[in-house]
Order: sequence, then C-alpha cells, then structure tokens
Amino acid sequence: MKNLKLVAARPDSSRSVIDVMGVKFGKDFVVIAGPCSVETERQTIETAIAVKKAGANMLRGGAFKPRTSPYAFQGLGLKGLKFLDKAKRETGLPIVTEVVDTRDVSWVGEYADVLQIGARNMQNFSLLREAGKSGKPILLKRGMYSTLEEWLNCAEYILAEGNPNVILCERGIRTFETYTRNTLDLSMIPAVLKESHLPILVDPSHGTGILSMIEPMSLAAMIAGADGLEIEVHIDPPSALSDKDQQLTVAQFEKLMRKLEKTRIFCANLKAMDETMDGDTTANDGKSSGRRDSAEGKESVERERELNPFIDAVD
Ligand code: PEP
Ligand code: MN
Repeated sequence: MKNLKLVAARPDSSRSVIDVMGVKFGKDFVVIAGPCSVETERQTIETAIAVKKAGANMLRGGAFKPRTSPYAFQGLGLKGLKFLDKAKRETGLPIVTEVVDTRDVSWVGEYADVLQIGARNMQNFSLLREAGKSGKPILLKRGMYSTLEEWLNCAEYILAEGNPNVILCERGIRTFETYTRNTLDLSMIPAVLKESHLPILVDPSHGTGILSMIEPMSLAAMIAGADGLEIEVHIDPPSALSDKDQQLTVAQFEKLMRKLEKTRIFCANLKAMDETMDGDTTANDGKSSGRRDSAEGKESVERERELNPFIDAVD
C-alpha cells in the first residue's frame, strides 16, 4: 500500500507491542470489556469488578457517546470519567474511553489509559492529529464505510505526529446485509497482520449487534489471529441507556472467557502444528492463527490431551 511509511509491515515482520500498565497489546490476547455507556457509579464499578473477576484486562465505557439521534443519551461527560477513574482505583483495570472532540483530547486523556477514536470519527483528521500529539495509546476503530487502506492511513496520521501507540479495531462495516447491525469483517485480521505491524482487535458487539453472535465471532477472531477483543458487558442489559440488545450479561461474559481460554490452548496447538509440519516458526509469515505461545503449546499438548478433541490433529 502506498504512502504508509510508519504503519506498514516491517521487512523483518516484527510487530509492535503496546504496553498499557502491563497489558501488552500485540503480545498477549487482550480483552477489553465493559458497558457501552457509563451510566451510574454503581453500574460502572459493579461491571468493572465483574469483568475483572472473569479475566478481562481492561475496562471500557463511553462517557461521550456519538449517537444517531441528538435526543438519545449522549453520555455523562466528566462525571462519567470520574466513575471510570473510581472503577480503575477499585479494580486496577486500565480504562479505555472514547474522545469525540479535538478540544477534549488532553483532559479526557487524564482519565483514559487508552483513548478510543470511534468508527464515526475514524477520518476526523484534526482529531487524529490531536490524538497523535497527545502521545496516549489510541484505539482506532474502523470506519463503517472505510477500506483497509483508508483505515491504515488514519493510523498513519497518528504515527506521523510522533505517537507510535496505535491499536486497530475491526468493528464491522455497512454492506447490503441488514440482518446484522454491521457486517463483521474478520478477513481484516489476516489483512492487517500482513500489511501492518500494529495490533488488531475485534469488536463483535458493534460488529454484529446480535447477542447470540458475540461468542462465535469472538472465538473466530481469536483463531484468525486477532490480538484481542473489545466487548460490551452490562450488569443489567435491559436497563442500559444505549445498545441494550447487544450487551452481554456478566454470566454470558464469564462463559465466553472460559471458552476463550480453551480456544487459546487450541490456538497454541495450531501454532505447534505449524512448527511440526513446516519446521518453521514463521509459518504463514508468522502471522497466522495461534501465532503466540508455541512453547506453552507444546507443554499444553500433554496437559490437554485428554480434554481437547483437537490434540490428535497436532501429532
Ligand atoms: C463504542 O465502542 O462505544 C462505539 C460507539 O463503537 P463504534 O465507534 O465502533 O460504533
Ligand atoms: Mn455501544
């Protein structure tokens, strides 16, 4: 791809690792979970405690909500950021929250550990530049009408300002299909892994908008080689002030996390299989499914032999 000076894949195929308070995007599989919107102190803190207990690595929650209707709940602003800060102090979870206005980048950045730029603002070039100047880790979601090349060029804007800490997030695009809220484009995982060194996450919540699809798309994203997930979880989804139909309950999230743990072992075994069959740790350019944890994969083969129906395929 033309003009990608800073974002393009490196000749040696090495990947960026972005460390946010010990959470390593691009190295470990990172799960960001939490409500669509920050609504109350209790909702924020209870959700944070629950997702942390289930194994999430970061807390998400919008205090500034870009909504289709100007009359819909727009978020609590500063009050919401203070609730997130309290939840962080209670749980130790770093905070991911969206910024929608160039004027807010610096002060929202005082509360956020990762600033999210949402799909609707992906090509807001002033916001991208400001995000670049902030030096904060930026979670850049794919615009709903954007090509890979446009998306990577938006990341380039941030890096060009001297900020290398960009994490990409596929969240679905508009297509002719209306059954789902968006068409979640999982093919962007291997595409980003081929074209860029930046970490790539998947948001199956906005990507499908359908509760029953979140688990299968999350597992598929992990198998396809994603660096993590961003998932909406609410302590009482029917009462949510935004996106109530796509937010997982805590119990659903716990179940998903347990399945992801099993899938992680499966991926490690796939990686071990690459090494055995190809005799090469960089099979598929080192960018294919389950590229992490190969040593762990070998150990886990024994540990999981009786539990995992896929193990035999490794031998
Ligand atoms: C969100 O994650 O809160 C959000 C609004 O997502 P998107 O920008 O992908 O629609
Ligand atoms: Mn939402």
